[in-house]
Amino acid sequence: MYDRVFNFSAGPAMMPEPVLEEIRDEMMNYRGSGMCVMEMSHRSAVFQTIVDEAEQDLRDLMGIPDNYRVLFIQGGATLQFSMIPMNLMKNGRAVYIETGAWSKKAIAEAKKVGEVIVAASAKDKNYTYIPDCSDLDIPADADYVYICENETIHGVTWPSLPNTKGHTLVSDQSSMFLSKPCSVSDYGMIYAGVQKNVGPAGMVVAIIREDLIRDDLTNLPVYLQYSTHAGSGSMYNTPNCWAIYCCGKVFKYLKSIGGLEEMHRRNLDKAQVFYDFLDQSQLFTGTVEKDFRSLMNIPFVTGSKELDAEVVAATKAAGYDNLKGHKSVGGLRASVYNAMPKAGVEALVDFLKKFEAQHG
Ligand SMILES: *Cc1c(COP(=O)(O)O)cnc(C)c1O
Repeated sequence: MYDRVFNFSAGPAMMPEPVLEEIRDEMMNYRGSGMCVMEMSHRSAVFQTIVDEAEQDLRDLMGIPDNYRVLFIQGGATLQFSMIPMNLMKNGRAVYIETGAWSKKAIAEAKKVGEVIVAASAKDKNYTYIPDCSDLDIPADADYVYICENETIHGVTWPSLPNTKGHTLVSDQSSMFLSKPCSVSDYGMIYAGVQKNVGPAGMVVAIIREDLIRDDLTNLPVYLQYSTHAGSGSMYNTPNCWAIYCCGKVFKYLKSIGGLEEMHRRNLDKAQVFYDFLDQSQLFTGTVEKDFRSLMNIPFVTGSKELDAEVVAATKAAGYDNLKGHKSVGGLRASVYNAMPKAGVEALVDFLKKFEAQHG
């Protein structure tokens, strides 16, 4: 009816259709309030219920322990690259693992705040694997160990978490958030920009252990202190009301399909379709070592820039949008987040098989 395409964008990305339909139905009059959520005071009782339910549903989905706070913060995942060192560096030094474009950006920002120790890097092989982090050299006074758990641009993911030797683990889960079950207590802080796997752009969900939230950072701009957001229920100023509302709907949707175990099962199934195709193809090659392949972002190449561009144009014309790789690495990339149906991946694979037959 709406003539929608299969959108393989790395973000903003697809939303579950039942969620979009609910939002459409509530657009002109949210549940008898006589207004759209976009038009609603963030101080109203009706909006407070939306925020409270969003937080509770996320807590239920992830099994977030009581000693963790859930914060909805603006500024995207990018602002967290600065807020994390500003708030969590007590001794002024932290360990970062360099696994791709997004951890590199986090490292660059943290260096402006304190000492950054890059304890492991995958730069030597162009970020196509996750380095062995079972026995890192971590100084005793390092404030935390930082990872990007799924590198959206390079398509690598951590098969298991690093051994932090008792140090606080901080993880950027932007492009894998809610794609599989997560043991929150393994982390000091998890954060995710929501536009990859959950909702509209412009907001981060930060899940942070209470003891990491300091109230002695009064020299920091107030908006950059986690304590400001924790102390005001994420409403120190006007929050991203629309994103909170849409994310809340996605949380409920995930609960309704069976939670993160079921979502993970579907994601494994879906990614398998694409990786099986790549592994038998004579034309297309996945760029990431098998053990570290992302379930969410799948970079691949033909080996020819001209042919890559031809694939992008041909797929777009056929209704498979946004397959161009990130400008920093080139090639092709299929992002197959939670909301991408298996049928979308199967249809794309069929198309690519035909393309290969014609260009082989
Ligand atoms: C997209 C992305 C970011 C940046 O998100 P913004 O909301 O645009 O700031 C950071 N980290 C990862 C892993 C991402 O995929």
